[in-house]
Amino acid sequence: MKLLIVGGVAGGASAAARARRLSEDSQIVLIERGPDVSFANCGLPYYIGGEITGREKLLVVTPERMQVRYKLDVRVRSSVEAVDRQAKKVRIRELVTQRVYEESYDKLVLAPGAAPIRPPLPGIDLPGVFTLRNLQDMDRIKQRLDDGVRQAVVVGAGFIGLELVENLARRGIATTVVELQDQVLPPFDKEMTTPIAEHLATQGVSLLLGQSADGFEPTSDGLSVRLKSGQRLSAQLVVLGVGVRPENKLAVDAGLEVGTRGGIRVNEHLQTSDPDIYAVGDAIEVTDFVTGEATQVPLAGPANRQGRIAADHIFGRAARYRGTQGTAILRVFERTAAMTGAAEKVLRRTRLPYRTVYIHPLQHAGYYPGAEQMTLKLLFDPKTGRILGAQAVGGAGVDKRIDVLAVAIQAGMTVFDLEEMELAYSPQYGSAKDPINMAGFVAGGLLRGEHPQVDVAALLAMPPAERPFLADVRTPQEFASGHIPEAVNIPIDELRSRLGEIPKDREIAAYCQVGQRGYLATRILRQAGFRAVNLSGGYKTYQLFHPNVNGAG
Ligand code: FAD
Repeated sequence: MKLLIVGGVAGGASAAARARRLSEDSQIVLIERGPDVSFANCGLPYYIGGEITGREKLLVVTPERMQVRYKLDVRVRSSVEAVDRQAKKVRIRELVTQRVYEESYDKLVLAPGAAPIRPPLPGIDLPGVFTLRNLQDMDRIKQRLDDGVRQAVVVGAGFIGLELVENLARRGIATTVVELQDQVLPPFDKEMTTPIAEHLATQGVSLLLGQSADGFEPTSDGLSVRLKSGQRLSAQLVVLGVGVRPENKLAVDAGLEVGTRGGIRVNEHLQTSDPDIYAVGDAIEVTDFVTGEATQVPLAGPANRQGRIAADHIFGRAARYRGTQGTAILRVFERTAAMTGAAEKVLRRTRLPYRTVYIHPLQHAGYYPGAEQMTLKLLFDPKTGRILGAQAVGGAGVDKRIDVLAVAIQAGMTVFDLEEMELAYSPQYGSAKDPINMAGFVAGGLLRGEHPQVDVAALLAMPPAERPFLADVRTPQEFASGHIPEAVNIPIDELRSRLGEIPKDREIAAYCQVGQRGYLATRILRQAGFRAVNLSGGYKTYQLFHPNVNGAG
């Protein structure tokens, strides 16, 4: 067997190493356009910021080591220019010598990744305007910073954009983020990004949402970034993080099928429309694990697993790729944002039925020093309780909860399973009722009808005349520091004695700060004959929809 692999980083290097472990006799040729293989793309922003010192740490494996340890024929600085499917050959150009030659294959794996999008804006090619994909891009950005940058503009507030923002700010650079959408981190639901946007502001980052860059001009001081609004920003460094496009040229030229957004089409074994050609990583179209839609998810975990699965299938194993959940995590200064499965906006677009609950638990026992609050949003099927998605924002412990929920989604678990989950607990790490259990109790109670709830989004969507009577059951002090307009303050401990103040002919929505006292209020009211529901996640969730709500907000 002669296996030829195009692209030597996450997907390609994984496929090569796995292939060698499965077959000592095969000839395995790995072709990589750049000078490095198997480098840590995900670490690039942290070298720029200075948190990772030592460039060599980003080189997970050198070409020489791959050659020796895995007996691979690694050819760096070599670009595959064309695939001849009939002859089962590729054309390769050695980029240093410009020599062009052909190489045959029995099986071919395409792992060319995705390239950063560079919109065709005036001035996009000016020195000082960068994208970040590999070590060479990183070196260029670092060099520019070392030459002296006071102001930077990052275009795009996605994962890579915000990682860069943090690292530029870490170097003391005044940084502005320009984002086309009206939220940061577009894969998340908007309200869940409110704490991140607010945190960016506290770190001195200026955030321009709903705006886009329109062009770049050279100035005596570096660059002027022109926005569509007409505003101009001065900077000595601009980094574009506006998304990536699958590198599909080889596949398209070879007549392989690609999806509507350009990803190379593959089956569950990761074979393209030509069964002797596999494709993996950022270049492919994947199936969304939850919705079943065709989509593109450029993440390192899926790319690595796909490389392994492709090699398994090539060497005769019945390996299948299950689809991509989009489990992702990001640190933004002292905050962490993570998600898995479908976001609410995706469920709405695909018209899949869902319900939502919000909770705001501490990551470990409140009495133990260092407890930090997180916000957790859980999306689930309203009939079966199957978990469809989750998002969390907070500090410590966000990673663990999203990982547990990622497993739950993959295992097809329901909110009732979350109620029963037995998770590690001591006060430093969790609570006897872990946030995962709490999410299960709140969602399970909702589905069983014991704990009827209304979402803030649903409440806000109602015409004011049709809204329920809003009972704020927090203390007068909490009420005074901010409440939902129209709400009446009846503290929980006075509720039983003040039932006469509550209308019997209207639905009642009780709320507190995070949902717990609201739940008790709902139970008291329902047993007293009121049609009461709890506002999911309480006033803290309302604030996610109303950033910086103060006073009577
Ligand atoms: P790549 O890693 O891009 O590798 C493709 C390789 O193929 C490239 O080196 C390219 O030079 C080569 N190539 C392309 N065409 C040819 C050709 N014709 N001939 C020869 N060689 C070719 N993901 C996460 O999950 N978590 C993170 O924290 C994270 N952080 C990231 C931070 C940054 C700055 C970047 C850029 C990406 C990050 N990612 C992260 C995404 C992750 O790196 C990618 O999803 C992953 O690397 C995709 O692997 P791949 O093998 O498909 O493509």
